[in-house]
Amino acid sequence: DEGHDWDIFDINEGLKTLYLFSHSISCFLHYRQTFSRNSIIGDKYRWPTTIPYYLEDSLEINAKGVILKAFDQYRLKTCIDFTPWKGEKNYISVYKGSGCSSSVGNQRVGKQRLSIGSNCDRLGTVEHEFLHALGFWHEQSRADRDDYVNIMWDRIKTGKKHNFEKHNDKESSALGVPYDYGSVMHYSKNGFSIGSEPTIVTKIPHFKDVIGQRMGFSSSDLTKLNRLYNCTKSSSFVDSCDFEEENICGMIQGPGNAKWEQRRSVRGGPQTDFTNMGQCKGKGFFMHFSTAVAKRGDRAFLESRWLYPKPGAQCLQFFLHNTGAADDVLSIWVREYDKASPKGKMSLFKSISGGVMGSWELHNVNLNVRKKARVVFEGVRGKRPSKGGFSLDDINLSSTKCPQHIWHIRNITGLMATTPAGSKLYSPRFLSPAGYSFQVIVLFFQRYMALYLHLTSGPNDHRLKWPCPWQQATMALMDQQSDIRQQMSMHQMITTDPKKKSSDGTQYYWDNPRKVGSKVTESDGSYYRGPGSGTSSFLTHSRLRSNKFIKGDDAFLLLSLEDISSLLVPQPLPHSAVQAAASLMRAGDHDAPQGDANNPTVITTVAASVGAVALVVSMLTAVNAWRMRRRQYKSDKVVIIQDMSGFME
Ligand SMILES: [Zn+2]
Repeated sequence: DEGHDWDIFDINEGLKTLYLFSHSISCFLHYRQTFSRNSIIGDKYRWPTTIPYYLEDSLEINAKGVILKAFDQYRLKTCIDFTPWKGEKNYISVYKGSGCSSSVGNQRVGKQRLSIGSNCDRLGTVEHEFLHALGFWHEQSRADRDDYVNIMWDRIKTGKKHNFEKHNDKESSALGVPYDYGSVMHYSKNGFSIGSEPTIVTKIPHFKDVIGQRMGFSSSDLTKLNRLYNCTKSSSFVDSCDFEEENICGMIQGPGNAKWEQRRSVRGGPQTDFTNMGQCKGKGFFMHFSTAVAKRGDRAFLESRWLYPKPGAQCLQFFLHNTGAADDVLSIWVREYDKASPKGKMSLFKSISGGVMGSWELHNVNLNVRKKARVVFEGVRGKRPSKGGFSLDDINLSSTKCPQHIWHIRNITGLMATTPAGSKLYSPRFLSPAGYSFQVIVLFFQRYMALYLHLTSGPNDHRLKWPCPWQQATMALMDQQSDIRQQMSMHQMITTDPKKKSSDGTQYYWDNPRKVGSKVTESDGSYYRGPGSGTSSFLTHSRLRSNKFIKGDDAFLLLSLEDISSLLVPQPLPHSAVQAAASLMRAGDHDAPQGDANNPTVITTVAASVGAVALVVSMLTAVNAWRMRRRQYKSDKVVIIQDMSGFME
């Protein structure tokens, strides 16, 4: 610190300036942290990096879908993977308890339960509970937390004070990562408050509304998890490139007679790159193929290095700025290598021409690579005169399916400033793969951005099932950071339950919009819009502004509507577990309780059991609950962390 004797005020002020600088200009793409180790100390608490799970039938269908999506986030950003339970000794069994809760670390109790109760079915919340199970306490429980936050004990609800206890550095470790106000493991300022006064006051005032985010893993959360489990790679991340480095991520120029160039700006546009929007001195590059310079029919190939993705579906995401002629074409190919084609076999996945011109547009392309391959961007100069060309930036490739649709919300900054509170912003109508037509509505209230899903009338309605059964919408406001692993997009997931009734009970909520909706007339014609479902508190304005949700005044909502009716079927039990339960039933184990007054889920399960399989499940549940209780008597180490459900702000 160069001999400065800073007092805490200066340090805080210094930090504040640094933080404001970094998030307004964001030039620090990477920073390194010193190594040392809010995680539970002891190898016995670790899980294997592939964790067996069981989704109990008590879970809401939407919750099941959210949990599976959360697993995808772990696969993308960490080395942790999840696999259906096949009889492994220790596994995580997820059920619908009275809230969101988990114990900390692998307790080695066989069936370790984790509750995703009502209002816990949010992506960030599920990530949070599984971080407990993986070995993390809350961020505000760190041994050094008194340096960063003040706990206001007299404002905490009775019986909840234990949620604010500290874990000393003999039993917990911060893994060498500084205190993180942005952690998904941090409570919000009003956590378990009696009234509206904060229970947690951040020492740096700037962070008072930062704490409590449930968008997803922060950068420090990932560092900690990856350190605790010695992660070196994730299972579904493949590649990311922002073209800032001169080696352009190992990409090469292919066989064409024209070339792509690494540029900072182009006269015909764009004036800046997408990653930094030109705000960083000495940075801000993108790749450009000038069709203004190239001759008719000229081709330029930009090819990735050799990539080895998992066979199956991959999603290629990139930003394209098109200022070329309407008949210039950008084609996305994959060059796959094997014995039969050592020089590579090309397969075309998408061709883009025309489209939206003169702005950075997000593109998602579904690929299907099985072997070693390169991703190839081919630019082709058309016949018409061009004043610009194709520009590419912020490419990400991962082993996952792409979102189905993109809603590019232009000038969201202007809309927030000028539209009166409560005015609505309607997305175009989109079609799901099953054929359902839907629409998303965004509203700006005083503090919050609200988000709702509506079914709308569409071309397939006569052949679709009504009320619409078990279609799950995933709506994600995209964090536009360049590297997909660091993106903290805000998700909202909603499932159409065909049995859900309108509030007066006269209609089915998700019935045909022509029947239960109202007629809407717009410039491009009229249609019917059904009732909406969503949340009035999707995201606070301050979070909307502080993350990279808005870049160049624009935001992107990524939308999918998927059939999840397969999740109605109970997850199959491993063969060994079914046998064990059957023999237990034959033996008539008198010690096993028939129902447990302390465990309402067991009772519910027993009461709801109809088929033989369901009975086996409840027997197992009861036996395991009984075993777990016995263990808890033996050791007081098993502490279940009970979180607040619902929206935490
Ligand atoms: Zn928690």
